[in-house]
Amino acid sequence: MKVTILGTGTSQGVPVIGCKCAVCRSEDVKDKRLRSAIMVEDGNTRIVVDVGPDFRQQMLHHSVDNLDAILLTHEHADHIFGLDDIRSFNWLQKSPMDIYCEQRVQESLRNIFNYVFAENKMPGIPQMNLINLQNEKFRIASINITPIRLLHQFLPVFGFRFDRFAYLTDFNVIEEQELEKLYGIDTLVICALRKSPHVSHLNLSGALELIKRIAPRKAYFTHLSHEIGKHRDLLAELPPAIEPAYDGLMIEIKNH
Ligand SMILES: [Zn+2]
Ligand SMILES: [Zn+2]
Ligand SMILES: [Zn+2]
Repeated sequence: MKVTILGTGTSQGVPVIGCKCAVCRSEDVKDKRLRSAIMVEDGNTRIVVDVGPDFRQQMLHHSVDNLDAILLTHEHADHIFGLDDIRSFNWLQKSPMDIYCEQRVQESLRNIFNYVFAENKMPGIPQMNLINLQNEKFRIASINITPIRLLHQFLPVFGFRFDRFAYLTDFNVIEEQELEKLYGIDTLVICALRKSPHVSHLNLSGALELIKRIAPRKAYFTHLSHEIGKHRDLLAELPPAIEPAYDGLMIEIKNH
């Protein structure tokens, strides 16, 4: 299984529009962070988790011309506002896109993308096949997926375990029984917004604490704000098994 980190930025991305801080002015490509998303591939199956406003760029950058499904963690703008661009895949694949998300997220999609669900549809609009996501294991072709219930302050969101890889973003609370679902993973990608605390996101120390409890072989940080500093500086502060992720990072996951 191969995981591609499509974006590692928080909701505004890095650089932030108009910001003159050292991180936003950095020329290091690893300090350019599109909105957070990943792509998981196994054999011929390809899944994307979250479709933020940078989805089009992410698909073009990685020359993606086929997508089997989209999983949505939650309905915030930085995770869904690229959905109009699934039109290219609808056209290429001659089919609607399977979009897995929970009921509440589906209701948001029906509001935000009302033209997609309108009775009298305009020609050429995106075609979405909404599939109800519950806190139960499921499969997409060869890929086994275990949803992980997380709390983004008060908002329930989903993280996902794909065999021995897990992706957890936009949360600061996880119950014990959900944490147990993560035992035995090889690689974890987890959000760490910044060093100072935040009401709805894990900060660096909170993420480090969770990594200790889950004990993966390797962990990467994502959903990073410009406030966390430059990639190079953060990397130097962390132990060898933990790294800040960067856009375009590819990770091979050995399942057995
Ligand atoms: Zn987010
Ligand atoms: Zn900045
Ligand atoms: Zn969010």
